[in-house]
Amino acid sequence: MDSTRVKDLVNSNGPLLVEKIGGLLNPFLLNFKNEKNRLLVFYFHGLYASESEQKLNHIDPQNNMTVTQFEDFIKYFLINKYRFICPEDMNSDLDSSQKYVMITFDDGYYNNLLSFEILERYKIPAVYFLTTRNISENSSFWWDIIFKYRSKQGSSLENIRSEQVSLKSLKHQDIIDYIVRNFGIVSLNPWSDIDRPLNENEVKLLAKHSYASIGNHTHNHSILTNYTRDEIVEELRISNNSLFEMIGKYPISIAYPNGNFNDLVISIAKEEGFQYAFTIQHEPIHLPVGNDNLLTLNRFMASTNKISDYGSFYRMGYIPNYLFYSLKDRLTSFIMRKK
Ligand SMILES: [Zn+2]
Repeated sequence: MDSTRVKDLVNSNGPLLVEKIGGLLNPFLLNFKNEKNRLLVFYFHGLYASESEQKLNHIDPQNNMTVTQFEDFIKYFLINKYRFICPEDMNSDLDSSQKYVMITFDDGYYNNLLSFEILERYKIPAVYFLTTRNISENSSFWWDIIFKYRSKQGSSLENIRSEQVSLKSLKHQDIIDYIVRNFGIVSLNPWSDIDRPLNENEVKLLAKHSYASIGNHTHNHSILTNYTRDEIVEELRISNNSLFEMIGKYPISIAYPNGNFNDLVISIAKEEGFQYAFTIQHEPIHLPVGNDNLLTLNRFMASTNKISDYGSFYRMGYIPNYLFYSLKDRLTSFIMRKK
């Protein structure tokens, strides 16, 4: 067997192997692991009212789950004695003998309102990071447009993903130009309540809800590391002002779109008054959070699989495929150093 074939085999089976071993070992190890003193933050995107909505392909299904799956997720952490908090709760000292979870929703889908019923039932908070341009213009999110139109054309999921990834290196206007060139201006219109963003009245409703907190997700869902200082400032200010107009206050938290940040982004987030900023570095947060880390808070992607299968991984502090690739990177660099 040649070395490329071996590499392919390791890459395709490695994460699965980590998952299998973890699935067996984690529940045993959790009897001895101290889970206190930590906060697990999860990011969700869209919610489906039912499984049949998912089959309609009105929205990119990546990271979206049904309301039932969302409820199972909450029940799992409640049973395991986690306390749910929102960014505002981080202002007061968190009790170090507790373990915490935070639920965050990115982008600002109308379907996020489906979470209300569950939050009310279990009396737990969530924070919603809103992309203000889509809200004010009722425009579809660009990654959903790619998914919807390419699926209709019969493209493979692999091709759709690589097209989406390639667009992430562009600025917002260039992405929209690409969308309009490929699918026409009409493609910016949402297809239904499944893929549309919230409207201004719904944002007001969200802000009034006792378990909801609102955060910034930029004006154009801009991947901030692609922009200049002035452009980053503008992205944060326009969205902040737009949120202020809708809800009467400025948000204290921001989720960097796609999780991307650098030193410039962090310093501007600080200058613009944000107290908390969230990335997508898949690791737990150790309490108390040092001041240096408040603007680069870790978040786990909420898995769309069954929480009863996956919960132990989060509680152990890892996601199988990320653990596999980080171990592989470390091993490779160790071998390179030895050579
Ligand atoms: Zn986003």
